Amino acid sequence: MSESLRCDAVVVGSGAGGAPVAAALAEAGLDVVVLEAGARIETRDFSGEEGEMIARLMTANSARDSGMEVYAGACVGGSTVVNDALCWHPPPEILASWRRDFGLAGLTETAFAPHVDRAWRTVNASPTDREHLNRNAHQLEVGAARLGWSAEAMHRNVRGCANLGLCNLGCPSGAKRSALVSWVPDAEARGARVVPLARADRIEVAGGGVRAVQATRLDPRTRQPVGALRVEAGAVCVAAGVLGTPALLLRSGLGAGTALGRGVQFHSSVYVTARFPEPVFGFYGPTMAYAVTEWSDVNGHRGPGFMLESVTVAPSVTASSLPGFGAEHERVMEALPYLARAVVVLRDRTRGSVAIDRDGAPALSYQPVAEDLARIREAVKQLARLYLAAGATEVYLPVNGIAAVRSEADLAALDAVRFEPRALSLLYAVHLFGGAAMSASRAQGFCDESGRAFDVVGLYVTDAAALPSNTGANPQITIMANALRIAAGIAAARGGRRSDEVSAR
Ligand SMILES: Cc1cc2nc3c(=O)[nH]c(=O)nc-3n(C[C@H](O)[C@H](O)[C@H](O)COP(=O)(O)OP(=O)(O)OC[C@H]3O[C@@H](n4cnc5c(N)ncnc54)[C@H](O)[C@@H]3O)c2cc1C
Ligand code: SF4
Repeated sequence: MSESLRCDAVVVGSGAGGAPVAAALAEAGLDVVVLEAGARIETRDFSGEEGEMIARLMTANSARDSGMEVYAGACVGGSTVVNDALCWHPPPEILASWRRDFGLAGLTETAFAPHVDRAWRTVNASPTDREHLNRNAHQLEVGAARLGWSAEAMHRNVRGCANLGLCNLGCPSGAKRSALVSWVPDAEARGARVVPLARADRIEVAGGGVRAVQATRLDPRTRQPVGALRVEAGAVCVAAGVLGTPALLLRSGLGAGTALGRGVQFHSSVYVTARFPEPVFGFYGPTMAYAVTEWSDVNGHRGPGFMLESVTVAPSVTASSLPGFGAEHERVMEALPYLARAVVVLRDRTRGSVAIDRDGAPALSYQPVAEDLARIREAVKQLARLYLAAGATEVYLPVNGIAAVRSEADLAALDAVRFEPRALSLLYAVHLFGGAAMSASRAQGFCDESGRAFDVVGLYVTDAAALPSNTGANPQITIMANALRIAAGIAAARGGRRSDEVSAR
């Protein structure tokens, strides 16, 4: 079956960079269609079962050169449905570096402020109180306090959090204000049409401007093609994520003479797990809530550029990230209720790229530079020190072949390891940036500071792919605010005209 629609603006992707744009453009009076490759899974369908929900809500990819894993949401609401609800304002140092290094003079704190406020309010970013700091977060707090390190409870976008510990599985109580339960219904209330299981394949360009988006309708069960959809519009906002956005633009034959696909950057992450003599029950309560900021290099900190953040010990993700096999792995997993865990969130210096393979699917290259590997080693050491200071009896480092650490002296073993991605039990990222970035120059980006593609009228990039670098702090609010900022420019330029034609053939 082949269908066609016509509207004012097509938004491709419904995550942090897509759904706010749909809401803002619909509010401005534009007729909006959102194409989302993933299924629409509502709160009532979030079963809380790890295997089922991860498979239904998420997608995994890996870098061809380093094997580094990247995870993202693949459903209506995108990664916000599976994320940990942590919220930070855009760090001022990051906005300053975008102005200085990418010529984005308009990206001031003042320009961002109304959009940050709107994002903050819409998703109800709020301080995390004691009732929502579980013992897992508490161990990080205790260790940091004993070492005199700066640390804080993070803001979370929740309302009435029931402490279930299932934030990565969609939040079955509906407390987490993901895009699925905030921006998407806001957009729909203003007339936007959200089409799930519609994968954008190609953007049609004619006479130097966008004309339409061609998409494939997917079967909800098999994800195999079941039809075609063409949506005609004078504006196309691409928000398919850091892998999906460059891939769609490259499949469309766009970006010649620009940095499309280049400049991709992550927050690289590894886990450190610690065993305590008393139960921690780290699988209950918010999946993430507390951060050690001592080593950060944003928000006024002058460290080497990493944060240490408490993270759930949900069974399958803990098992799959612990080093080792067989009886030793089983011994650690048997102690699950006694385990605390935290994740290193590194502000990478590495830059990678996204190309497309023969099938047009994203092909990621990301080879961590030596400086980043050295900083990961340092972060792992500091986190292990913290857990020992907090009273851990054993600390499990994310490095294959290293014995559990029981004292600071044992950490010397780390220095003997050739620190490279494949030596680590799991090196991954969920904070992805760039690939179709804003910049004043084609050599550095794909679009200008309004998100407008350099060479195609009516084409915008509004998601994390538009950000010229990583942010040094969990990025969803920065992505939403930037998307709203770009949407405000689109709405102003189009004057809120509407076209109501819908046709099918
Ligand atoms: C497990 C996890 C935990 C995280 N925790 C936090 C956190 O606590 N705080 C925080 O600030 N950030 C967190 N993040 C990161 C944050 O959620 C993302 O940075 C943000 O959602 C990215 O926004 P985006 O719009 O670029 O992409 P996404 O939100 O991933 O949305 C992209 C959407 O595009 C769709 N898509 C892809 N290709 C196509 C196509 N061809 N056609 C149509 N649709 C397509 C995808 O299915 C997806 O729904 C987390 C991420 C993950 C995965
Ligand atoms: S801990 Fe709170 S936010 Fe997370 S899934 Fe449970 S109710 Fe939702």
